[in-house]
Amino acid sequence: MPEREIAQRATRAKLLLGPGPSNPDPRVLRALSEPTLGHLDPDFVSIMDETTDLLRYVFTTKNRLTIPVSGTGSAGMEAAIVNTLEPGDTAIICVAGVFGERMVDVATRAGARVVRVDASWGAPVDPDDVRKAVKLNPQAKVVGIVHAETSTGVLQPLDEIARIAHEAGMRLIVDAVTSLGGVKVPVDELGLDFVYSGTQKCLSCPPGLAPVTVNDDTLSFIKNRKTKCQSWYLDLSMIERYWGSERFYHHTAPVNMIYALNEALRIIKEEGLEARWRRHCLNQQALVAGLEAMGLKLVVQPEYRLPSLTTVFLPEGLDDVRARKKLLDEFGIEVGGGLGKFKGKVWRIGLMGTNSTKPVVLTLLTAMECVLVEEGVKVPRGVGVARALEVYSAAE
Ligand SMILES: *Cc1c(COP(=O)(O)O)cnc(C)c1O
Repeated sequence: MPEREIAQRATRAKLLLGPGPSNPDPRVLRALSEPTLGHLDPDFVSIMDETTDLLRYVFTTKNRLTIPVSGTGSAGMEAAIVNTLEPGDTAIICVAGVFGERMVDVATRAGARVVRVDASWGAPVDPDDVRKAVKLNPQAKVVGIVHAETSTGVLQPLDEIARIAHEAGMRLIVDAVTSLGGVKVPVDELGLDFVYSGTQKCLSCPPGLAPVTVNDDTLSFIKNRKTKCQSWYLDLSMIERYWGSERFYHHTAPVNMIYALNEALRIIKEEGLEARWRRHCLNQQALVAGLEAMGLKLVVQPEYRLPSLTTVFLPEGLDDVRARKKLLDEFGIEVGGGLGKFKGKVWRIGLMGTNSTKPVVLTLLTAMECVLVEEGVKVPRGVGVARALEVYSAAE
């Protein structure tokens, strides 16, 4: 067999404005390349402790069990399901997009009996529908819901649904993959029982870890459940012994990824959470003003728009794949196409973490205008950027 020639690796930086990953902060990439330590080395242990403290800050919680699970956001989802449900348990899962659908799949595979509460794509789940499902299924152990549905761009209000679940004695599992670090996740304020996230969205860190926070009541359930957690790798009753004072080996921590997360969280602390949430809101407002000035229609009603991810309908007749390819090839900008029912119909524009800035918004609007005009869409030149700039001036 002839020897295959291995081409030079030629990665070049692109502006990642899709549903994730987003661009990591350069400081985070530098942290990633620091010398690897042993996973029980005292120097590493102090980095672990600092990282969990910082995670508690970002999750706005005092929960002791607040750690990064090894794996991407989906590992966080799987950890939430397999630790809180035993085979045969009932789970009420809210579905308003792809990630709610995924939670149903994960819970079904874990042997749970799943009751769905559906909402139409682009709208939030209606608390009244949750109330009905809870009433009809009082034996259910958990309610699962996505806080920031990245497939639709909806920010799901959680207050009422948390109250309904808790009054019925059910735990609330919350997917905060696209909200943590960009939008407030009210963990202690609403007593959310198990919340998971991912590093590559609003935390501006590469993909690879799933920060989770679990309240004490849920942790004690996990430690005392009747059946063993079906996943050895994601069993939090064992993982907790490594992150807690015992430092008991379970699996080798992804040491360098934890440096990266540690740096990403420091950056968030330096900026301040509230300032960061405000920044995500302002930049989305500017983006939305620009898109609307260009004649584009937003998918989600203003009160439910997710600041970190904006969904916009494509203009009639625009070739989705060709236009996105042009944006990527000519401008080095990635935006996301629609998923599921939205395939070919919408774009998903992420302004996450480090990428949620004025220069990024203005760059994207300019590039989009060029692509749309080239593709034959009638867009008056310059209006998008002009409207966005008005939003920034008004905010000064
Ligand atoms: C991205 C995402 C996930 C999955 O995370 P991965 O890192 O791709 O495994 C889960 N839920 C939501 C809402 C997401 O946006």
